[in-house]
Amino acid sequence: MKLSIGLFAVLASLIVNASDINTFELSPSDPCSVAVAQPANVADALSLSDVWQQQARIQSIFNDKPKVSIVVDDLGDNSIVAKQLLNLPIKVTAAILPHTPHATKIAQWAADNGHQVIMHLPMEAFSRPDLLGPGALRANMDQQKIEATMTSSAASIPYLRGFNNHMGSLLTEDPQKMRWVMESAKKRGWFFLDSKTSESSVAQIVANQVGLKNISRDIFLDHHTPANISQLDGIILKRFKKALKIAEQRGHVVIICHPYPQTVKFFEQELPKLVENIELVTLSQLVTSVNSHNSGALAGEK
Ligand SMILES: [Zn+2]
Repeated sequence: MKLSIGLFAVLASLIVNASDINTFELSPSDPCSVAVAQPANVADALSLSDVWQQQARIQSIFNDKPKVSIVVDDLGDNSIVAKQLLNLPIKVTAAILPHTPHATKIAQWAADNGHQVIMHLPMEAFSRPDLLGPGALRANMDQQKIEATMTSSAASIPYLRGFNNHMGSLLTEDPQKMRWVMESAKKRGWFFLDSKTSESSVAQIVANQVGLKNISRDIFLDHHTPANISQLDGIILKRFKKALKIAEQRGHVVIICHPYPQTVKFFEQELPKLVENIELVTLSQLVTSVNSHNSGALAGEK
């Protein structure tokens, strides 16, 4: 074990020093990316969990498998399905609605099981204000009100690393409101996932302007209507295969799913067969990787 750890440490050191390698998750600003360039004698003191994580990270650097990040939206009201999802042997990002009855408990379960936690921040949509829930940001709010709402919502969920929008087709099209939201998020050290509930969302453009790391949802895995709910198993499988195609072509994909029994069943039964050729990564890993790649590309264009 010691030899193996030492070898990994040396390899990691070489990789960190190689400036021309497009590494994955080596940004010092990301708490997930603990320094992998440990001297061999320090590695002796690492716990088994540290060693496992270190090896997984180094394998990730060498690994050019398509990277897939799974986000579970709308958590907080139903603790039973949430627990089933968070007990699965896959790492997901738990997107929890603020001020919901089980928000704290679910965030704790997620953290205990090695998942990431983000806030699923309700934002006003063009329709169905009844579905927004507490802590929603609305188009009639001024900057002070948005800031106070975000502060109060953030206090209702521990372990937050970032946020994505719940609904928000109206608000994410508003550059002024998005600027206030993204500036507030940046102060909190968060990243942003645009759920892309509007094709005209300016949220990522504004996030880039204020220097907030961000990424976009690619696939809603289990979106359905009351009319086609009986076909949901097939819909989920089809969308997952579509997501894999995106990941193969582009290198990564962000999937959003929901705490539905059919989704839990899919992950339990089908995912092990489908994940052989992909690497499941946390959202912060992907955000860091994609944003450092983008900033490198931008710097190269100057
Ligand atoms: Zn939602």
